[in-house]
Amino acid sequence: MSELARQLFGEDLPPKQLALIVDLDDTVCTAFACPISIALDVLRKLDRQRVAVHYVTARPEMSRAGTERFFEEHRLPGFRNLHLCPGYYGSLKHKKDKHVTIAREHRVIASIGDCDEDEGEAARHAGVPFVLVDRDNPVAAWMALRELIEAVGGFTRGERPA
Ligand SMILES: [Mg+2]
Repeated sequence: MSELARQLFGEDLPPKQLALIVDLDDTVCTAFACPISIALDVLRKLDRQRVAVHYVTARPEMSRAGTERFFEEHRLPGFRNLHLCPGYYGSLKHKKDKHVTIAREHRVIASIGDCDEDEGEAARHAGVPFVLVDRDNPVAAWMALRELIEAVGGFTRGERPA
């Protein structure tokens, strides 16, 4: 590795794939399957080759079918990366573990969620930037995330969400 490459990328070569860590309830949808439209808009316009989306949620395994149906219905990226909470884990431990694993394997643009003491804590634990969703106004957080994604060229060309 050249000295310049080392300065630019540290030991992180080849460059890791970009990723987003996304909470579901009150972040992408309300009342289990009622979509938050700006969330869908931002996620659908991602360049799927460049950005992997990982959904880390406190939903249990029994929610799998319903959650996958929601992904399908709304054509969301990353449906294979659904990390439901195993019954023997509390939500915080589950989210911490997943944030650490995903951050090890990717360059995480940010984690987004509505619960600071849960996914916010998990993101800080893993050294990942966190964007907090205000349940009364989820638009602001998604717009902030959109800027971060845009800064790393994470959208399909010409597809900047409105
Ligand atoms: Mg939530």
